[in-house]
Amino acid sequence: MGRVNSDDAQSNDTISLDQLVEWLHQFSNLVNQNKGYLTELDSAIGDADHGSNMSRGMTAVLDQLPSGGPADAMFKKVGMTLVSSVGGASGPLYGTFFMRLAPALGSSDAVPAASLASALRAGLDGVVSRGKAELGDKTMVDAMGPAVDAIEKSLSAGESLAEATRAGADAARGGREATIPLVARKGRASYLGERSKGHQDPGATSTTYLFEALAASLDGV
Ligand code: ADP
Ligand code: MG
Repeated sequence: MGRVNSDDAQSNDTISLDQLVEWLHQFSNLVNQNKGYLTELDSAIGDADHGSNMSRGMTAVLDQLPSGGPADAMFKKVGMTLVSSVGGASGPLYGTFFMRLAPALGSSDAVPAASLASALRAGLDGVVSRGKAELGDKTMVDAMGPAVDAIEKSLSAGESLAEATRAGADAARGGREATIPLVARKGRASYLGERSKGHQDPGATSTTYLFEALAASLDGV
């Protein structure tokens, strides 16, 4: 699977500050392009605001993005902006995710693949400790957990960061699809009990965009 070319294994073993910024832009684009869809998903099992929450949050993130690095300060700021601009559950959860990336990203202009993987693991752990959702509770964790696992596994197998993040996006898509038959056990959707079955989780959907955006940022720049 994946492209095999001379750059893949070597030069993609780091993610640059520009690519990290590109990640945020790509995520914002995907959220904005799919704002109506995210809201439609949230209208079935929530309160019809996930698209507008995420769109407002990512617009504020890009408006307030520092003009340069270091990466750790940038991602702390991204997280704080999401917490302060998004009222719903997703604001504090995504905010925590981004803030928790900071220590492992550090202040280098070229973040090693292993550091990015550690950062993503710390982000996931932050979401889990804040929201207390486990795998299978029909939340964003169902996309984020498999994505982080897949990235770690791919890197351990010696694949490039570009390949690893593509595997992460695939795993996120798988986790998102797997939310459809589940009964929600966290967040607003849990109020519906059995009636939440048969609907795709909005947060797992936006988290899939997050990992698709990461893969795209490594492919494109
Ligand atoms: P709200 O539910 O406050 O309206 P959003 O609609 O923006 O917030 O986000 C809803 C999404 O947040 C859900 O689809 C789910 O993926 C995620 N979510 C809700 N509660 C939790 C939680 N405790 N842990 C992880 N994710 C959660
Ligand atoms: Mg909602």
